[in-house]
Formats: sequence, C-alpha cells, structure tokens
Amino acid sequence: MMKIGFIGLGIMGKPMARNLLRAGHELVVYDILPENIQEVVASGAVPAASCKEVAESCMHIITMLPNSPEVKAAVLGENGVLEGAASGCLLIDMSSIAPGASQEIAAKCAQKGVGMLDAPVSGGEPKAIDGTLSIMVGGNKALFESVKDEILLKMGASAVYCGEIGAGNTTKLANQIIVACNIAALAEALTLAKKSGVDPAFVFDAIKGGLAGSTVMNAKAPMMLAGEYKPGFRIDLHIKDLANALETGHSVSAPLPLAASVMEMFQALRADGAGKEDHSALARYYAKLSGETIYGPIHN
Ligand code: NAD
Repeated sequence: MMKIGFIGLGIMGKPMARNLLRAGHELVVYDILPENIQEVVASGAVPAASCKEVAESCMHIITMLPNSPEVKAAVLGENGVLEGAASGCLLIDMSSIAPGASQEIAAKCAQKGVGMLDAPVSGGEPKAIDGTLSIMVGGNKALFESVKDEILLKMGASAVYCGEIGAGNTTKLANQIIVACNIAALAEALTLAKKSGVDPAFVFDAIKGGLAGSTVMNAKAPMMLAGEYKPGFRIDLHIKDLANALETGHSVSAPLPLAASVMEMFQALRADGAGKEDHSALARYYAKLSGETIYGPIHN
C-alpha cells in the first residue's frame, strides 16, 4: 500500500482515484472545485487544501488536469506541488498536454530533485471507471518500472513505455490525430451514402468487418445514425489536443495537413455552439455542407 497524492478530480480523475483506493492505496486529494474533492473523500480519500499540501504528505503525486497551463499552475505556481515536494518525490502527470510543456515542467522538477513521468491515457470515462485505460508513458525507464504495477496498472489495462519525457504526450497526439481523421472520414463516407439514397446503417453493417472497420467506427457510427452527440469526448477537448499537435508538428517540421483540416471543421462546429458535444458531431459539419443528415429517412 502506498500514500498517493491525486490532483484534478474531473470526469477522468474521479474514477481513476477511486480505482487506486479500491487497490488499497491511501489517497490525499485536491481539486480547485471543493465539490469534486468531497465526492472522492466520500469514497475514502483524505482532502487537502492545496497542491502544496498534497505534495507535503506524499512521495507519489498524480495530476489529471485539462491542459498545459493548468498543469504548470498546479505544479510550478503559488501553493503548487514544487513548493511542498521533498527531494525524491515522483510526479506522474496523466493529463494530455503539449510534449514541450512536459519537458519544461520536468526540468523545473529536476532542479528540486523531483522526478517526473508524462503518462496520458486513452479510453475515456468508461475505461477510467473500469480501470482499463491505455496508458502511454515518457520519462526515466526505471521510474516507470517503479510505478507500473502498483499504480499505473491499477488504473489501466496497459502501460507502455514510449521514451524520454514528453514521449507519452507525443504518443497521445498521434492517437488524437488518428481518431479525429477517422471520425471525419466516417462522417464524410456516411453522408455520401445517404445522399446517394443508400441507407448508411446498411453501409456500416456491410463494411465494419472489413479493412475500413475500426474501434472508432464501432463507437461513432451508431451515434451518427441516431443523430445524438452526447459526450463522450467533447469537441472542445479535441480542439485542445489538435492545437497541441499542430504546435508540436510546427516545432519539429512535421506538417499535419489532415489534422489541420479536421481542426478547422471542429472550429466551425464550436463557432456554431457545438463545443460541448461529442466529437462525432463532425457529422453535423457534413450535414451543413451537404444539406443532408446521416440519420432520418432515406430519399431516393
Ligand atoms: P475535467 O475538466 O473533467 O477535469 C479536470 C479537473 O481539473 C476539474 O475537476 C478541474 O476543477 C480541475 N482543475 C483545473 N485546474 C486545476 C488546478 N490548477 N488545480 C487543481 N485542480 C484543477 O477533464 P477530464 O475529462 O477529466 O480530462 C482530464 C485530462 O484527461 C485532459 O487533459 C483530457 O484531454 C484527458 N483525457 C480525457 C478523456 C475524456 O474522455 N474525458 C479521455 C482521455 C484523456
């Protein structure tokens, strides 16, 4: 059993923290929203008043926050982790942030003798609840091995070492590009079928077992066929990930023309008020272009 700090108790952080409690660990938790702290305290965690206070009592600290600025504020800011952490502490940042930000934060941590892993996740809320997330990790390999079984695999079905610090988030960006482009291609293809008078439900059934079939298709085609885009994964968060991908791509001279196209589709949807909808609402973008929805009656 270990005493672990957990900062950021949102959609993902809450169930991940509960899985660590279930595994027998002692948890000290903090979030800027007191109601989120209370929910996890009700499951057996101990509350803290700041990120600094979390770090003062734990040698392992997990952060699960929205993006780079929030992780910087929680770790490097006033009353942050580094104000309270002892030398030898390990920070495991499981948020999806820019790889360059992970490297910056890790360098500041190293000045205080604090180690850091970047360990973003894939799988969303259902897999966070089940403890079956896919975890991709960057940083010192020995540090990764030291927490793999007792911490990471209590929240995930897999934890894969990807390379030096930032490599976890680079892997996550690759994941997010593939998911975004897959959803856009699916919306484009099903809209073509519908406009041609072919039932998109038949198209999905016919091709899901073939080469075009994918986890994305199985999860998102039913949502498009129903015209229901309850998140899931919000467009606002996918915009954040693609912004990090484009910034990273530009910094290493890796042009990302497909990611840039889907980014503009998401921007159009956000401008139209759909930022809080699931990313499968890319189907709505195609409905505007074509004047036809994937759901609803077929016109021949
Ligand atoms: P969320 O917005 O639900 O949760 C973030 C939490 O952090 C909130 O409770 C917020 O109050 C808290 N917070 C913000 N700033 C803080 C600070 N300075 N100090 C302490 N707490 C602070 O987001 P989420 O959906 O849980 O996502 C967290 C991360 O996981 C994001 O980077 C996201 O991209 C990634 N992710 C999300 C999903 C998903 O399906 N939701 C899937 C995979 C990865």
